[in-house]
Amino acid sequence: MNRNLTIQEIKKNPNTTVLIIGAGINGIGTFRDLALQGVDCLIIDGSDFCSGASMASSHMLHGGIRYLENGEFRLVREALHERNNLLRNAPHLTYPLPTTIPIFKWFSGLFNAPLKFLGLLNKPAERGAVIIKLGLILYDAYVQGDSPMPRHRFDNREKALDKWPALNPDILFAATYYDGGMYSPERLAMEILLDGEAEGDHARALNYIRAVGAAGDAVLMRDEISGEEFSVTPEILINAGGPWIDIVNDKVNGGSAFIGGTKGSHLIVKHPELREAIGDHEIFFEYLDGRIVLIYPFLQGYVLIGTTDIRIDDPDQASCTEDEIEYILGMVPHIFPSLEVSREHIVFQFSGVRPLPAAEGTTGQISRDHSLEVVEKSDQVPWPILNLVGGKWTSYRAFSEQITNHVLRRLNRSRQESTTRLPIGGGREYPASKDTQKQWIRNQAEKSGISQDRMEELFTRYGTRAEQVAVALTETTDHPLTHLPEYSEGEIGFLVENEIITHLDDFLLRRSKLAWVNQVSHESITELAGIIGELLNWGGGVQKEEVNRTLRILRERHAVKV
Ligand SMILES: Cc1cc2nc3c(=O)[nH]c(=O)nc-3n(C[C@H](O)[C@H](O)[C@H](O)COP(=O)(O)OP(=O)(O)OC[C@H]3O[C@@H](n4cnc5c(N)ncnc54)[C@H](O)[C@@H]3O)c2cc1C
Repeated sequence: MNRNLTIQEIKKNPNTTVLIIGAGINGIGTFRDLALQGVDCLIIDGSDFCSGASMASSHMLHGGIRYLENGEFRLVREALHERNNLLRNAPHLTYPLPTTIPIFKWFSGLFNAPLKFLGLLNKPAERGAVIIKLGLILYDAYVQGDSPMPRHRFDNREKALDKWPALNPDILFAATYYDGGMYSPERLAMEILLDGEAEGDHARALNYIRAVGAAGDAVLMRDEISGEEFSVTPEILINAGGPWIDIVNDKVNGGSAFIGGTKGSHLIVKHPELREAIGDHEIFFEYLDGRIVLIYPFLQGYVLIGTTDIRIDDPDQASCTEDEIEYILGMVPHIFPSLEVSREHIVFQFSGVRPLPAAEGTTGQISRDHSLEVVEKSDQVPWPILNLVGGKWTSYRAFSEQITNHVLRRLNRSRQESTTRLPIGGGREYPASKDTQKQWIRNQAEKSGISQDRMEELFTRYGTRAEQVAVALTETTDHPLTHLPEYSEGEIGFLVENEIITHLDDFLLRRSKLAWVNQVSHESITELAGIIGELLNWGGGVQKEEVNRTLRILRERHAVKV
């Protein structure tokens, strides 16, 4: 539904059964699940959807082999099943990701897990071949019979150097196993949200609406676009503020101390030799300080390198510092000694804060599991507050299911639909093989009169939702953008109308991945501001502000050279 209309309706009737504050993946997953069960719910975010921790991920769908040494067996098992669910339910936005661990020792690290379990080891220690082998056997065993991907394998030094000639020649083995990757976590989150909204008028979603306080049994909201304030009166409040959970509670409930966030930064580099060196494999390895880091084959031949893990109190202050850039660039020659990556290769950088539970000790050893922290209704708090602490992108569905079941119990209602095997957005009726995909594209091209090449482009971006996009394109006189010819005016129009684009940067950073892969220019930003501005009735002044805002965000936050 149109953003302004939704706000007008809320002003007329501020009651809702569930209010979710925070539209990262945990809030969005819960929103969709509640919507599917017919529960009246409203989700709001003070910024854009999926713009917090959920936009800062390493793009991995993984069980987290590393967490085994922290004794997090439950989490790993759950995340592995969820990884497989996502590969099945959203095949258009996810893919099996071969992941290779270069190994330099035989036996070290064998006693890490038991020592950590007993609290006798508080820093990472080098992992050798035996411990990695044991971990991978367990990793495979957890999803035996439920994995669409091959089991792990070990290559000896000779074979490994044959496959990856630039690898550090000191290696003994290379272990390869499969995890999953997401092309665009932001589009995936958007499609989950849209699926929730499509369930009916009982499910409403608003971006750029910030929870700023409470008055009686109402939560006070500020519209970040108009500056207007209004209130919402929920029966149950879900605080899905991720790293901002305690700050949200400060505003609505007198505070909490659930979160001990750590910042993680990544760089995306244009470095063809490095990309050739890794091939299509993620290289997952131990760095000098014992932390596990990654070099990841990103979209369009780029390479993602990360990440850091630094305690931070205020998530709004998270940015990629000079020290972090040095640290991340240094990872490459550690594993590929002949390759040097420098600042000139950086095309994009990003930072975010992991919403980890408040805990003492080394950051790498803080639990990555999720938990529900309930603050019950009392004289001081007019609604029960369900705080969604922690969790991985990968396991959002299981966490959302847990929260939804909890809400259903409170409302004395029962579950009507499971999300386990529920396709997401353009993953619905997705043709499985290359041949059936080609056939689908041919059929849709014929039906719509759109060229096959263009239809293929739309299918790659939107999966089977491309059919809806194609219908919209044929309803206008469509033409490619002058400065961004792979997109057309009609396509931008479809996204503005259907995907709640509010600011220009929503499109460049989250509805598309253009800004991440060096595909923006001053000219294309100005052209897009004109098209989106016309659809959203921006006057000339607002258009100019939007261009400036976008340039500022891209340059300052993401180091985009534009
Ligand atoms: C560096 C890094 C790498 C990661 N890599 C991976 C990975 O590869 N794979 C994986 O599975 N997981 C990964 N994770 C973990 C995963 O991304 C997060 O745990 C998950 O995204 C948390 O989602 P969330 O919805 O809880 O929080 P968020 O996504 O942060 O959502 C919280 C939302 O609340 C909003 N908000 C805050 N205050 C207010 C307010 N007052 N009013 C309204 N809205 C408000 C924010 O704008 C934000 O959008 C990574 C995390 C980080 C930081």
